Amino acid sequence: MKAAIVGGGVIGGGWAARFLLNGWDVAVFDPDPQARRRIGEVLDGARRALPALYDAALPPEGRLTYEDGMDRAVAGADWVQESVPERLDLKHRILGQLTELAPEAAIIGSSTSGFRPSELTAEGARAIVAHPFNPVYLLPLVELVGGAEACARAADLLRGIGMYPLTLRKEIDAHIADRLLEAIWREALWLVTDGIATTDEIDEAIRQGFGLRWAQMGLFETYRIAGGEAGMAHFMEQFGPALAWPWTKLTDVPAFTPELVATIAAQSDAQSGHLSIRALERLRDDNLV
Ligand code: NAD
Repeated sequence: MKAAIVGGGVIGGGWAARFLLNGWDVAVFDPDPQARRRIGEVLDGARRALPALYDAALPPEGRLTYEDGMDRAVAGADWVQESVPERLDLKHRILGQLTELAPEAAIIGSSTSGFRPSELTAEGARAIVAHPFNPVYLLPLVELVGGAEACARAADLLRGIGMYPLTLRKEIDAHIADRLLEAIWREALWLVTDGIATTDEIDEAIRQGFGLRWAQMGLFETYRIAGGEAGMAHFMEQFGPALAWPWTKLTDVPAFTPELVATIAAQSDAQSGHLSIRALERLRDDNLV
């Protein structure tokens, strides 16, 4: 099996590692000469982290090629994954070209975090959303959005490379997981804006508490337990009235001023500026494994 990766940044590199680990051939197309170095760094991270999870290590060399032309990258591909920057005009151009060049039977997936399939395919492209999570070589979730038949075929292939495909029932901006994250992010910006907590304190509130719970049981099962033997309906009825205020009032976005950006950047530097991004990635991967 062959995967073509179009756009070799942090996400394209993660897809490459994921496919390679599972025995696929991978061809990368990215016009930026720096892409090889960036993909090399992602693969280094995967090589370091994966042996603790899988018996099979990432194949050392040979199955990964870098192609100068998009046509050569997608030739004979079973899966084509677009992972170029999140700009609609660029996605339109690239997905249009991929629709022309890719084999008829190939699935064309877009890594887009925010665009709906109807926006991506407005110019006649054939594509589904296949939205992964960073680092793609460790996190299983892929959100699939698009035509039912293509999504079902994609889901089978993704299960085969150790992923957890979740198909959306309807398209929506930013799919499921990023919608949830945006709500948390918005409240975190409020907490910093109002001087309630620093970036470090907010991260600890997540890490030491509900983040651990969420990682193993999500939201609804966690709340089901909170409802006790009386059940979920009891939980909802009991806590619903108390939550009416945050549900209806905490919807505004704090003013996204240069001061807020500077405050958060300074707090974030104080929190983890002593560590390089590479060191933080290693820490993240070790914890995830
Ligand atoms: P990135 O900037 O790290 O990588 C983008 C790559 O695309 C770069 O290597 C760039 O050289 C390449 N590129 C630019 N123009 C190109 C072209 N015409 N043809 C081929 N390659 C081209 O970005 P990223 O973070 O990897 O994001 C890529 C996509 O994945 C976006 O749609 C983003 O929304 C989505 N995504 C990102 C994350 C994340 O956490 N970073 C998570 C999930 C999905």
